[in-house]
Amino acid sequence: MDFLPFTRPSIDEDTIAAVGEVLRSGWITTGPKSRELEAALSAYVGGRPVRVVTSATAALEMALHIAGVQPGDEVITCPLSWVATANVILTVGATPVFVDADPVTRNIDLDKVEAAITPKTRAIIPVDLAGLPVDRDRLYDIAGRHSLRVIEDAAQSMGANWNGRAIGSFGDLVSFSFHANKNMTSGEGGCLVLNNDDEARLFEKLRLQGVTRFADGTMDVDVLGGKANMTDIAAAIGLGQLKKLDGFNVRRRELARLYFEHFDASLGCELPQADFEQSNWHMFQPLLPLANMTLSRAEFIDAMKADGIGVGVHYPAMHLFTLFRAMGFKEGDFPHAEDIGRRTVTLPLFPAMQDADVQRVCQAVSRVLRPALK
Ligand SMILES: *Cc1c(COP(=O)(O)O)cnc(C)c1O
Repeated sequence: MDFLPFTRPSIDEDTIAAVGEVLRSGWITTGPKSRELEAALSAYVGGRPVRVVTSATAALEMALHIAGVQPGDEVITCPLSWVATANVILTVGATPVFVDADPVTRNIDLDKVEAAITPKTRAIIPVDLAGLPVDRDRLYDIAGRHSLRVIEDAAQSMGANWNGRAIGSFGDLVSFSFHANKNMTSGEGGCLVLNNDDEARLFEKLRLQGVTRFADGTMDVDVLGGKANMTDIAAAIGLGQLKKLDGFNVRRRELARLYFEHFDASLGCELPQADFEQSNWHMFQPLLPLANMTLSRAEFIDAMKADGIGVGVHYPAMHLFTLFRAMGFKEGDFPHAEDIGRRTVTLPLFPAMQDADVQRVCQAVSRVLRPALK
């Protein structure tokens, strides 16, 4: 049987043809396709301004600037995320303040956020891990009461919703990623949903050297900008993907439901929250019963690979990385994030999977895990 990776993008022939058209057009950097993608994304999030860039990391970093986060400010986030979430806080000279994950949702524990707020706190970066949205009502209630900006790291939750409202269609600044593994891709890329045209103008400057061009052909630079503009090649991929996004997510939800049907509950794995309304099922991640196993997680992953099935790890708790330990973070600081980070495995889930693939994965998990239970 073919190797089943934990994820794989679905790129259709129309998208491949659209990329060919861009390459033949004579204009391959930022141009009409990027503007078309911005308009389509804006329509997707109910008309709010959207600007595209080369990565969600760039979008998050520029969002911190737009939110006025300065060196010395504190920004609250969760250590159970891709390390980009906290790296951008360091990049702008601010201090990451971690709050542990909730063991059920695996997202930031909103019960613990207020205790982490100090006079220096400027913003919160919530992360919708695996596409399961953080409770937006409680989040914005806390942010509002403490006058904090919110920069939603919605890298994984494109197409998810909170109580029926699309993520990105409300709230403060919202960042999505179009990395190859996300629910829609542009190869690499990302975007930021902004509150108004002034913020969008500032974002345009930040993403391209701070430049403003005037109608008379002159230009000026009044802020320090970087270089993060998207190519039309990437935008053409993004446009093809956005058309398919809702269909992809319907299929992901179906596959996630199948996992819950076929996964052997007696193995003692902890399954993710069974949300088939709001989550976009970016990933399906059981937690291994490590204390009850004779295999390590690495050995489990190797055994699954030997069975033809790719398994990922998203993510180890980031405060235990050397960079963050050097800032004083240590084992025991965030026990839920650490526990989840040690036990989590990402099983295959992507739109092109067949129903039978889910059964095949569940059978392999049983075959590997059953004899390894103490
Ligand atoms: C993928 C991801 C990012 C970064 O996105 P890039 O486009 O790769 O920069 C940030 N945060 C989370 C939670 C992600 O999953």
